Amino acid sequence: MTEILENGPAVIGGGPAGLMAAEVLARAGHAVTVYDRMPSPARKLLIAGRGGLNLTHSEPRADFLGRYHPPGGHLAESIEAFSPEALRAWCADLGQPTFVGSSGRVFPESFKASPLLRAWLARLDALGVTIRTRYRFVGWSEAGAVVFETPEGRIEARHTSLLLALGGASWPRLGSDGAWVPILEGRGIPVTPLEASNVGFSVDWSPVFAERFAGQPLKRIALTIADRRVRGEAMITAEGIEGGVLYAASHAIRAALAAGPDVPITLDLRPDCSEPALAQALRRGKPGESLSNRLRKGAGLSPAAAGFLREAAGPHLSAEASALAALIKAAPLRLRAPHAIARAISSAGGVPFGQIDDRFMLRARPGTFVAGEMLDWDAPTGGYLLQGAFASGCAAAEGMRAWMARI
Ligand SMILES: Cc1cc2nc3c(=O)[nH]c(=O)nc-3n(C[C@H](O)[C@H](O)[C@H](O)COP(=O)(O)OP(=O)(O)OC[C@H]3O[C@@H](n4cnc5c(N)ncnc54)[C@H](O)[C@@H]3O)c2cc1C
Repeated sequence: MTEILENGPAVIGGGPAGLMAAEVLARAGHAVTVYDRMPSPARKLLIAGRGGLNLTHSEPRADFLGRYHPPGGHLAESIEAFSPEALRAWCADLGQPTFVGSSGRVFPESFKASPLLRAWLARLDALGVTIRTRYRFVGWSEAGAVVFETPEGRIEARHTSLLLALGGASWPRLGSDGAWVPILEGRGIPVTPLEASNVGFSVDWSPVFAERFAGQPLKRIALTIADRRVRGEAMITAEGIEGGVLYAASHAIRAALAAGPDVPITLDLRPDCSEPALAQALRRGKPGESLSNRLRKGAGLSPAAAGFLREAAGPHLSAEASALAALIKAAPLRLRAPHAIARAISSAGGVPFGQIDDRFMLRARPGTFVAGEMLDWDAPTGGYLLQGAFASGCAAAEGMRAWMARI
């Protein structure tokens, strides 16, 4: 076993939270080492950029903070300190200016993550940050050193302070696999079980519907669960349904599923049109016109939306205008269970906030800090996940600085 004598602070996990912490520490003059188990850091950030890197959101601060579970607390404070505006300024400073899309979401002008990550890694290199890849954190030795498994064998390291930024457990092939959970639990730190968030749900579609409409979107719809209504779109899949409206409501849906096997949810397939207006439009059809044509021309439904309406009504689809309009405004959708965590955009659960102090330091392990998706918070897609990771990474680094200054 080789002993590496590193004196400075260390960050384990080179995702957005860990790299941001490394930058803050390096700027403050610390010789920082980042360890990551993968051959290169920030693989999830790169994948996040595949369909457009949604870095944060431009909505008013109170609405923005209202997207997080649990509300308030240390995460909200970290976002106040490293705000969406600060994140945009940071991107611009890296030569990656951002823009606000029509939905209020914020993206880099290049739309991608790779130019941002390239510029960021070059900056970290210039600041003297050491990044060690293929170092898998497996716990602590009896003497308190950090233990890694590496291609060269087991290696122990000692650091003045340590940040764990190991991510959640979604898309494990990108590096974050949740293997840290038993390591922390073994040290007496309770962890809320990791579960899929921002994920699709399985639905018992009829074979005919699944075959015909899998892969088709339901655009401009609204989903209602209990008193929560979310607008956006969804994608029909062979096994169920996924997409923005499901992700935005996934916290409420998961809570409801945990309470019972079937969650009643309704989709409004024409959220911009009132029920009486829809009924009137449906009555206007020519005599003898087919139901499909009335749904398409009168109600303005896409083939997938009309198919979903038939699926929701089963064999009892009424052709009467008021009944049809009511169904279009509140078509029932029965979700069975969330898809597996490996397919989720993010995971909920993790280290509870009660286990860390206001500097993001583990109460049970002074000198060890936690940031990013590893902590027990949840947020929908829309830039909230990355903003939470960046901001908590910043806050934890400030906590580490304060800790190192007093020892
Ligand atoms: C397909 C997809 C699209 C997404 N799109 C968006 C989006 O557009 N906007 C948004 O806000 N969010 C998005 N997200 C979510 C966002 O990417 C994550 O929330 C964010 O990356 C979490 O940052 P993190 O630093 O906490 O963890 P991660 O990014 O998961 O980084 C953790 C790092 O720790 C390393 N690690 C894990 N275990 C060990 C170990 N034992 N030893 C050493 N290293 C280890 C991993 O290799 C990884 O590099 C997306 C996620 C996915 C999967």
